[in-house]
Amino acid sequence: MATTITATRQVVENYQRLFVNRRAYTLQSMRPHPETGRHYYFRPSKQGTDLPLMLTYETTRQHLEGKITVGLYAINPSTQRCKWVAIDADYKNSMEDLLKLQYHLTRDRVEPALEMSKRGGHLWIFLATPLLAKECRIYIHDLALRLGVPVKGSGLGDGIEVFPKHDAIGAGEFGNAIRGPLGIHRGANRRFWFYGADYSLEAQIEYLNGLRKVTEEELRRFIAGKERPEPDFSPRPEKLTSMERKPGNGRAEFRILEHIGTVRKLGRNYVARCPSCADCGHDRSGDNLAILIEDPRFYKCWAGCTKEMIRAALGCPIRVRHSA
Ligand SMILES: [Zn+2]
Repeated sequence: MATTITATRQVVENYQRLFVNRRAYTLQSMRPHPETGRHYYFRPSKQGTDLPLMLTYETTRQHLEGKITVGLYAINPSTQRCKWVAIDADYKNSMEDLLKLQYHLTRDRVEPALEMSKRGGHLWIFLATPLLAKECRIYIHDLALRLGVPVKGSGLGDGIEVFPKHDAIGAGEFGNAIRGPLGIHRGANRRFWFYGADYSLEAQIEYLNGLRKVTEEELRRFIAGKERPEPDFSPRPEKLTSMERKPGNGRAEFRILEHIGTVRKLGRNYVARCPSCADCGHDRSGDNLAILIEDPRFYKCWAGCTKEMIRAALGCPIRVRHSA
């Protein structure tokens, strides 16, 4: 249900500082297309003219209050830099790929923010100062390649989309826009929030402000010696594999949810602190272990702990079968 809420001056100004990198923007149509039923984005112009409208304080406020929905461009063509990188994933099992990316970004001490979306999610990375689109893209493409996360447009069908979508754009060009966070998605008729903070504009902005921002020096270090890899070679994402046997004869089935503490819901998964990582003092952010909600027999530690390690750490080691 779409709700109208009030955006304070502080919220609007912080939002602009975090997300707005140029004044050109797109607007999502309030009415669905009569044939497709979709709410398309268009570049708004002054009524009766073809003069493009520029994003103002007022536009931003209306977006945050849910009256309109804007799309934001990543690259400022005068600098070829962006304030953020957004990874959009909305295919089947995309949340697993986003969690994997999130985990590995965290290992670089990057603190990404995961935004819910209609299907899947958007992972946002914020930059301390605007950084070159080209360098941001090298970093994410390289990471995706190393993790086996597919990138869309590589001939494999589904995959993540990285915003900025271009290394650079021309003076009169725009690149691609992404739905501005925290507004109302017209198609879904609801607001999507960031995980990790309460569902109010103030709490969400405070959370985003508190995240570590990537510096230019860090980004250069992450991509040192790297070229943008050809995404065609990125392998398919690995699937969660069954880590539990079917219940044996008369033996109670192991249910991991009965053994671990607090879980959070994240897309198709519960996430929790991995007990095996915890034994070594790792996983302080408490999100290494992903458990498939629809079938909790499937679980996985992103840091690579085996099921044997996890079961042993829980005091329920997997029994070894002895031949008679
Ligand atoms: Zn682990």
